[in-house]
Parts: sequence; structure tokens; C-alpha cells
Amino acid sequence: MELNNKSLFKEKCYVNGSWVESQSGDFLEVNNPATQEIIGKVPKFTKDETKKVIENANDAFQTWKNTTAKERSVILKKWGDLIVENVEDLAKIMTIEQGKPVAEAKGEILMGASYIEFYAEEAKRVYGDIIPDPRPGKRIVVIKQPVGVVGAITPWNFPNSMITRKCAAALAVGCTAVVKPASQTPYSALAVAELAHRAGFPKGVFNIITGSAKDIGLELTKNPMVRKISFTGSTEVGKILMEQSASTVKKVSMELGGHAPFIVFDDADLNEAVTGAMQSKFRNSGQTCICSNRIFVHEKVYDEFLEKFSAEVKKIKVGNGLDEGVVSGPLIDKSSLDKVIDHVQDAVNTGAKIAVGGDVHSLGGNFYQPTVLSHVTTKAKITFEETFGPVAPLYKFSNDEEVINLANDTPYGLASYFYSRDISRVWKIAEALEYGIVSINNGLPTIAEIPFGGVKESGMGREGSKYGLDDYLVIKYISMGGI
Ligand code: ADP
Repeated sequence: MELNNKSLFKEKCYVNGSWVESQSGDFLEVNNPATQEIIGKVPKFTKDETKKVIENANDAFQTWKNTTAKERSVILKKWGDLIVENVEDLAKIMTIEQGKPVAEAKGEILMGASYIEFYAEEAKRVYGDIIPDPRPGKRIVVIKQPVGVVGAITPWNFPNSMITRKCAAALAVGCTAVVKPASQTPYSALAVAELAHRAGFPKGVFNIITGSAKDIGLELTKNPMVRKISFTGSTEVGKILMEQSASTVKKVSMELGGHAPFIVFDDADLNEAVTGAMQSKFRNSGQTCICSNRIFVHEKVYDEFLEKFSAEVKKIKVGNGLDEGVVSGPLIDKSSLDKVIDHVQDAVNTGAKIAVGGDVHSLGGNFYQPTVLSHVTTKAKITFEETFGPVAPLYKFSNDEEVINLANDTPYGLASYFYSRDISRVWKIAEALEYGIVSINNGLPTIAEIPFGGVKESGMGREGSKYGLDDYLVIKYISMGGI
């Protein structure tokens, strides 16, 4: 890999301010999903090694929590600036281990840095309250304090920004963190740790360990010194982590699966709706938890939307993310590809028609053709399960009530999208959708300033915005008498 700064490619864990290997010498291999080549290896930390890291993070917490928000902000800003300065190298590392095109990787890294910039500022405004006391001679004071050591478990689809989104908020309010990145994408995480080191965080404040998700996850959730688990990943694993965290009653933030509806009403600007559908469906080859998974189009505009949308999907250039002009990379692994193949076959078996794509890509490996399915029925698996791939299923509807029921007919509730220019409908539909995020006439709702998160089985807690700070704070009521 041609990097300007080779020291950003680390094959060790970052623990208590140092780079270390596992005591056993065991390691995990990391591959490039576009070529299947092995890129390198990272240590396989055990449960006991994880325990030691947590103890160090807990020691560091005793000092870090007493620094001022301003002192923390100075280091955080430096960290964010270093990420921006090294965006070219970080993007290459990400593309090689994750597959997304370099331009998209750069976008993610700059977004990742924007969380750091935001929280470096916002944590200066962690205000308390003085509540008027109805009792004579007494006062009610409320302060907010950092929760303690945070265990962060992050996914492979956003290897940079899921770490910064969690840790910028956590570190800014005075928590320390132990991060376990996805085993498919550890190098983006370790590079960010190298930059955190250069930014000057004291030892033990920020740690990244790699290894078996089960072993590390078990220790992070069961260890009483960890006071908070912040997880982004599947609903299935989120439920396991919540159960494991129950034994020590930890605070948890869960950013889990989604099954986003994308609704096109008959009064929509169809060109805008097509642009939004392209952005929300095909970003990261359909591998985001807010990707639209069910596209509902009003019967009056269905044929026109299908034609315009299909024409755009046909233009998508698929390939190795390092190659010029590629906008869609491979799927992360074989099991993701198998799920996509299964969903498309099942949709066709239950009545859908293939408008575009519909098969594995001629490039082979983990590549799948960007696909549009029309006339999908509610019998198809794709109607109820998250596909996590470049497949857009289209459904026809005839009235508002019908489409609201269809959109809400899922245990998930992360993101939803709709296109309409009727102000009355916009309000009614926005209020009726059971989702944490409702994006109207906008295919890209995520930025640092918004509260990102879901309802129902899509999870709890919010990341980004002033609300994201609450996930790493505890409220203390101070009762003062004798006044
Ligand atoms: P995905 O389907 O996106 O891979 P997962 O929920 O399987 O989502 O993985 C998200 C993150 O959770 C990854 O870092 C993965 O290693 C981790 N993980 C998976 N299983 C467990 C587990 N049993 N305990 C803790 N972490 C886990």
C-alpha cells in the first residue's frame, strides 16, 4: 500500500499509550474484499488482556474526569485536525480493508473528523440546573458527570466515523474508552489511534483492541469497571450485549439494524426523489443501517419513477474502490453476498420482476450488480429483512394510510424517507412514521449536528448533536440543607 505516512498502518493494539502485541502471539488475518488478498494481521486479544486494558482505562479515568472541558477540547481538536490532514492515507487504508470507493472513504473520514470538532466545542456546554426548592432552607442542584469507562464496539461499514462519533462525545465529557473495532476493518481504527496518540491524549484515555468479538465483548459487558456500552451493529448482537450488560446494570446505547422505507408520493419532485433514492440506497453498496430497503411509489407515478430510477442505476460503475470512477465497491464478504443472492431469488420466486441487474457481477468475488426489482410482493423476504446490499425493491401503493401501515410494519425504526411537496401531508406523514429519523426530500440526513438513533428494535440512545452527550453522562442531584 502506497501511503504518504507509513506509520499510520499499525498491526498492533493501542493500549495505555503504547503499541502492543497479544501475549499469546495469536492473530487475525485481514483481507481486501475487492481482491481477497490478505492485507496483514492484527493481534487476537484474550479476555484477560481485555480486563487489563479496562483496568488501565479506569485508572486513567480518575485523572481525565477532573480535567476541564477546555483542556479536553484542545486535544480533541488536534486529533480532528490530524485526521483531516491525513485524509488521503486514511481513505486508502479504508478502501483496502472495507471496499468502499476512495472518494466515499474520504467523505466518511471528514464526517468522522466533524464529530470530533463538534464535541470538542459542545462538551463545554454541559450545563446543570438549579431547581427552585419548595422547602425552606434547602436548595436543589443538578450536575452532570462522565459515566466512567466506555466500551465501544463498532461495525465494518463505517470503520472511522462510528468510532469518532462515539469516542468524541465520550472523551469530550471526561470518559475514557476501550474500543473493539470490527475484525474486518481494524486498520482504520488503529490509524485513528495513532493520530489520537500524536494529538496528546494521556495514556489509558483511548484504547483500541482487536480480537475475538465474543471474548472481548463478554469482558467489556461483564466487567463492573465498564459503566457504559456503546454498540453499533446488528439487532441480534445488540440483544446479546444488552443481556450481558444487565448483570452489572450498565448504561447502554444501541444503534442497531434498520429497514428504511422510502416513499414517493404523487406530488413529489420525481427527479429529486430519484436522486434521493440513489443516495440512500446505493451508498456503500447498500451496506448502511439507514439505507432505504423498501421503496414505495404511488401508483400514479410508479412507471415514471421506475424508468428514471432504473436509468440512473444502470450508470453505476462497479469495481475496486481504488480504481478511478468507481462508485460502488464489493460487498464486505461472502456471507453478505449470499444474503443478497437469496433475497433477490426469493423476491423473483414470489412475483417480483428484475428491472436492472439481478445477478452476481462479472467481476466475480464479492461483487453484485446494482439491482432494481419491480412489483415486489409482501410475501418476499426482502419486505421484512434488511438486505444490506445494492438491491432496490419497488412497491406500488394507492393512498397515504396504506403506505403508512406498510412503512411501519416492521420491528425496526431507524431511518425513513419520503418525498412530497404538500405541507399538510408532510406534517402528517412525519408524525405518523415510527422512526427515529424522518428525512423529507433529502436522501442524506446524517451530519454531526443531528441526533442519530432509532426506536423499536433499532435501538436506543442518540449519537451526534447535543443529545449525544447525554449517552456518556450521569445526572447527580445534590441536596443542600441548613441554609
Ligand atoms: P454486522 O452484521 O454489521 O457484521 P455485527 O453485529 O455482527 O454486525 O457486528 C458488529 C460488531 O459487533 C463487530 O465489531 C463485531 O465484531 C461485534 N460482535 C459480533 N458478535 C459479537 C458478540 N457476541 N459480542 C460482542 N461483539 C460482537
